[in-house]
Amino acid sequence: MKNIMFIAPPAAGKGTQAELVVEKYHIPHISTGDILREISKEDSEIGNYVKETLASGQLVKDDITYQLIEDRLKKDDCRKGFIIDGFPRNIDQAYQYDKILDKLGYEVGNVILINIDKKTLEKRITGRRICEKCNSIYNINDEASSPKQESICDNCGGKLYQRTDDNLASFETRYQTYLDKTEPIIKHYKDMGVLTEVDGNDTIENIFKSIDKIIK
Ligand SMILES: [Zn+2]
Repeated sequence: MKNIMFIAPPAAGKGTQAELVVEKYHIPHISTGDILREISKEDSEIGNYVKETLASGQLVKDDITYQLIEDRLKKDDCRKGFIIDGFPRNIDQAYQYDKILDKLGYEVGNVILINIDKKTLEKRITGRRICEKCNSIYNINDEASSPKQESICDNCGGKLYQRTDDNLASFETRYQTYLDKTEPIIKHYKDMGVLTEVDGNDTIENIFKSIDKIIK
């Protein structure tokens, strides 16, 4: 089993695909967000620093993030492969990630780019509705995942709402950041010959089939 890194624009369904891979292959899903939240519960110098930084809405210093990722990847459960998520976010972090892998004797493995049209993403974002009671997620722009009755949850009858950041302006900002920061990462791993692209405009099932082929 090779290590896996997903690269995808916001709302491309990266999280869902990562879950499917974990389910099938039982490898750890290493998310920098989770690592930071976990360490912030510890009563240590670094734990307190991370807790305060996250609470103030600032970014944790790169050096600390690198150290935490290295510590996590060192653990035994990562020896048979893992999925790295939420990292690297820019080219400098990618170089640093390569160094960490080198140090631990790991290979980059498969870098999987989920390609998806911007228009499809916009439809997903603006159509997303969430149940205020049970958190079920619907999409009114997609027949397969629309609720049966408008604004009402199929599962529990709760009212559906739209997240405030699920709007086009907010998406545009996130998408532009993705392009600016991620294009160099894509080029970097393409040049290394480890990047494979999959078509993200397809159904969740079919996207997973393409990913599964690469992993196998
Ligand atoms: Zn519900």
